[in-house]
Amino acid sequence: MHFQWYPGHMTKAKRMMQENIKLIDLIIELVDARIPLSSRNPDIDDLGKNKARLILLNKSDLASEKGNEEWKKYFEDKGFYVVKVNSKNGNGIKNVNSVVQDACKEKIERDRKRGILNRPIRAMVVGIPNVGKSTFINTFAGKACAKTGNKPGVTKGKQWIKLNKNVELLDTPGILWPKFEDQLVGLKLALIGSIKDEILNVEELALELIKFLNNHYKGLMEEKYTIPEIENNAFALQNVAESKQCKLKGNEPDLVKAANLIIDDFRNGKLGRITLEFPDKS
Ligand code: GDP
Repeated sequence: MHFQWYPGHMTKAKRMMQENIKLIDLIIELVDARIPLSSRNPDIDDLGKNKARLILLNKSDLASEKGNEEWKKYFEDKGFYVVKVNSKNGNGIKNVNSVVQDACKEKIERDRKRGILNRPIRAMVVGIPNVGKSTFINTFAGKACAKTGNKPGVTKGKQWIKLNKNVELLDTPGILWPKFEDQLVGLKLALIGSIKDEILNVEELALELIKFLNNHYKGLMEEKYTIPEIENNAFALQNVAESKQCKLKGNEPDLVKAANLIIDDFRNGKLGRITLEFPDKS
C-alpha cells in the first residue's frame, strides 16, 4: 500500500489517533527492522505518553540478526518492551502475547487494587504505511478471532478483536506519517519501498544502495552479481547491467533496468538480510 501525504491526511490521521488512544492501555508500534528509526515518527511518544508501549521490529526476516539485537537493546534501554517478529510467516508472534501481559502488568495491578477483575487490556497497532500493520493484525489475531463491540448491522463505532479473555485489539490500525523531511530518512524509506517509485529516480536510488552495501556489506554486490571489485558506484551499476544482460536497443547497457533489479533484489531479501541503519553508539 502506497501513500501520498498531504497536510489534510496528516491532520486527520493525528486526530483519529488522539481519539483512539484515549480508549486503550497499550500501543503496539510496528517499525521496519531494517530502518527502525527512519520508519518511526517520534510524535507517537508524545501522543502515547502514560500508555504501555510495545515496539515490534517487524520484517525482522529481512534485517540482519546483529542489527535486530542492537535495536532490541536500544529500545529496551529507552523503556519499551520489544519483540522481533515476522508478521508474514508468524515467526515471533507467539511471544507477543506474553509480552503484552508483561507490558500491562502495572495496569492489571492497578485494576486489581481497585477491585476490578479481568477487565481486558485494550491495545491498538500503529505504524507508518507499508510497515506491516494489517499483516500483523491478521497473523496475531488469527482466523478464529471474534469481533466484539458492535451489534450486527451497526457499522459505525469501534470494532474490537477479542484476542483472548485478557486482550482486545482495535481492528483498525493507527497510521503514522513518516518524517521524510530529512533526505537520508527519505532515501531509506524509498529503499524499503515506502514511497511511490514513480516519484523516484531509480538510478540514484540504486547508486545510493550500492554505496551503502559497498561500505557496510563489502563484497556482497560482487558476489551476488558476479562483477569485478567495486571502485566506482556508477561503474558497478554498469557492470551489473552487463552481467545481468540488461540491454537497450543497440546493445547499450540498460541502467534503469539494472537499478530496478538491484532495488527489487534488496526489497525481496535476495541480497540477504540487510539492516540499513544502526543505533548511534555515541
Ligand atoms: P500496512 O500498510 O502497514 O498495513 O502494511 P501491510 O500489512 O499491507 O504489509 C505491507 C507489505 O509488507 C506486504 O506485502 C506484506 O506481505 C509485507 N510484510 C508484512 N510483514 C512482513 C514481514 O514480517 N516480513 C516480510 N518479509 N514481509 C512482510
